[in-house]
This record gives sequence, C-alpha cells and structure tokens, in this order.
Amino acid sequence: ALALRGVNKWFGRFHVLRDLSLSVARGERIVICGPSGSGKSTLIRCINGLEAHQSGQIFVEGTELTRDLKTIDRVRRETGMVFQHFNLFPHLTVLENCMLAPVHVRKLSRAEAEAAAMELLSRVRIPEQAHKYPAQLSGGQQQRAAIARALCMKPRIMLFDEPTSALDPEMVQEVLETMIALADEGMTMLCVSHEMGFARAVADRVIFMDEGRIVEDSPPRSFFSAPQHERARLFLSRIP
Ligand code: ATP
Ligand code: MG
Repeated sequence: ALALRGVNKWFGRFHVLRDLSLSVARGERIVICGPSGSGKSTLIRCINGLEAHQSGQIFVEGTELTRDLKTIDRVRRETGMVFQHFNLFPHLTVLENCMLAPVHVRKLSRAEAEAAAMELLSRVRIPEQAHKYPAQLSGGQQQRAAIARALCMKPRIMLFDEPTSALDPEMVQEVLETMIALADEGMTMLCVSHEMGFARAVADRVIFMDEGRIVEDSPPRSFFSAPQHERARLFLSRIP
C-alpha cells in the first residue's frame, strides 16, 4: 500500500527525515511514536504530499509522489488524514463538511454524497449531530466527524496525527473505539499516537522514531516487553 525508500527532508539546514525507509502492506496497522520533534508529523505530511521530500521515493498505492500536482492530487484521494486539531470547516454543518469534497472533488450528486455521509456519520455513531456546526459538538464528536469526513472520500489509507492528544480524557476512548472499529474493517492505517493501549490493541507494528530516523519497527508485543533501542526504553518508561 505504501513504500518509502531512502527519504530525506530538510527544513532549511535542519535534517528532519534521515534516510527513512518503510513499507506498509495493505491492511496493515502501524502506530508511530517517539519524542517531540523526531519527525512523526513531518513523515505523515510527506506521505500525503502536504510537505515535499527532497530525496528518496514515496509510493502510495503504486503512485510515486512527485511534485507534479496531478500526482499529488491522486495521492490525496487515496489517503484520508485526521489531525490533532479537528480541522472541520466551522461555517459548515457536520453533514456539509462531509459532503464538500465528495461533491466538489469526486463529483457525486448532492443526494449521493448526503446518503454516503449519513451512513458514515452513523458508523462513527454521531448521526444525530449531522445538522449541527462543529462548535456545537464535543471534542470527541468533532474528531469522529473529522474521521467520517476523511472516510467520505473512500481513502485506501488513513493517516492519523495524534487524533486524541487534544481531547479531554473522557473523550479519548470514544475516538479510539472508532479507530479500532476502522482497523477491524481492514483499513490500512498509520497512526501517530502515544496511546499505548491502542497500539497494543490494533497495531501490527509499532514504529519508534528518533531524530528523523526509524530506530525501531517491531510488533507491539516485543516493542513493549523488550524495546531494542535505548531511546525507546527511556520513552516507554516515561509513559504512564
Ligand atoms: P511532536 O511529537 O511534538 O508532534 P513530531 O515528531 O511530530 O513532534 P515534527 O512536527 O515532524 O515532529 O517536527 C520535526 C522537527 O521539524 C521539529 O524540530 C520542528 O521544529 C521542525 N519543523 C516542523 N515543521 C517545520 C517547518 N514547517 N519549518 C521548519 N521546521 C519545521
Ligand atoms: Mg507531531
């Protein structure tokens, strides 16, 4: 589903991704963790073309990500992205948020887009919020709406960047449950997350990043019981 080969990226003189290689098979669930500033968000943003890498190759569903806008467009359609801060459009209702891209990008009729959106809002268990504006929802509901909106484009890969880290503790679980359900349906997922319970429950592999490199890539069982890398051991010892 996804392959990165020797990817490098710099912000000015700062080398943020260092010779990074990674393959993700269809249906695999990857949880990415690591210290602040290690490049996790940058990696996710490079995968859907929000940031450009400077060397190496990124393939998403067989398409190599280049600077060509058509290619970037195609890759964006294959990937759904959910950020830490629910980036719903505040002036649109939840339903309108979910219909926007399907109508304008995928050219569905409004009726088709609405039916699909309502189905997804039911799947994330907030159909009753469809006609409200984002500000009228709780943080957990907003984040589930953001997940539904991403799913409306029928992505083949879902990218999550700390989707629960801005939520009040009581709302974390409802969002994680939505993500677990998605994982159970076989969605290919890359999640930056420090929710280690979630990683244990769904991850096929846990990736630990440090200073722009992947320093550990192992199944959760071995990652949690015997992390290979000193930096990962230290990191885990600090997580409650
Ligand atoms: P966190 O856990 O805090 O979210 P992260 O692992 O997601 O951290 P990134 O956001 O990928 O880290 O940032 C990696 C490094 O790149 C940081 O040192 C950051 O300051 C730097 N960086 C990120 N975006 C930019 C940018 N647009 N311009 C310059 N430097 C940037
Ligand atoms: Mg980040």
